[in-house]
Amino acid sequence: MGTASDIKLIGDDGLRLDGRGLDELRPIKMEINVLNRADGSSYIEWGGNKIMVAVYGPREAYPKHNQDINKAFVRARYNMAAFSVDERKRPGPDRRSQEISKVLSEALESAIMTELFPRTQIDVFIEVLQADAGTRIAGLTASSIAVAAAGIPMRDLVVGCTAGKAGGKVVLDLSKDEDNFGEADLPIAVLARSKKIVLMQMDGDMTLEEIDQAHSMIFSATDRIYQIQREALESKYTVDASQWGE
Ligand code: UDP
Repeated sequence: MGTASDIKLIGDDGLRLDGRGLDELRPIKMEINVLNRADGSSYIEWGGNKIMVAVYGPREAYPKHNQDINKAFVRARYNMAAFSVDERKRPGPDRRSQEISKVLSEALESAIMTELFPRTQIDVFIEVLQADAGTRIAGLTASSIAVAAAGIPMRDLVVGCTAGKAGGKVVLDLSKDEDNFGEADLPIAVLARSKKIVLMQMDGDMTLEEIDQAHSMIFSATDRIYQIQREALESKYTVDASQWGE
């Protein structure tokens, strides 16, 4: 979290710098099956974030010591392109991308029926082409529909959102300025229907009441984002029954 106290994140009109209300999401668009060579794929635009996901598998786990005789091994790899941020990012893995890859792998694993595919691995490549705060959650939300598009059985979709504190207020879906200069950042992902939490991280300080408020903002936002996920899946998989006649 930054310390630039001179940046006024909430205006006198109660709106945020980008004109949003406190619990307003940025625009979100998702699409599946955008890559021909992947088993499943997706593309998401969430505010200024642009992220591509490619899923491969289940396929034989390699090296063999990664094989689990009871279940598939889920390996998400989060990567930021060098050109995705203002200041060129040095290519290749770093501590941040390793941490994000780990938490995203675990979140996805809790939704996938891994027990059906022993000794295999499922690879999920998350390529951030343009970053604008909230990339881990946008990448995870897109990964979940890419896994579904690969035909891999899942208990539920994973859907997430970030909330936090900026300019002294609890706000939904932090912008880049709010992420940099705000007081706290709380990304959460859940199983869409049961609302079981599968990812929760926090950076900064909030009181318990503020965390409660952030949780309820996130839970209601995930219902809206889940609808967008479903629409992305249904638009490719819905069959027009009228063609079969009565
Ligand atoms: N960011 C950046 N350079 C980096 C890492 C992050 O400019 O090396 C920016 C990027 O826009 C990212 C934001 O900082 O979305 C917030 O990063 P954070 O680690 O909080 O993860 P995120 O919110 O993207 O999940």
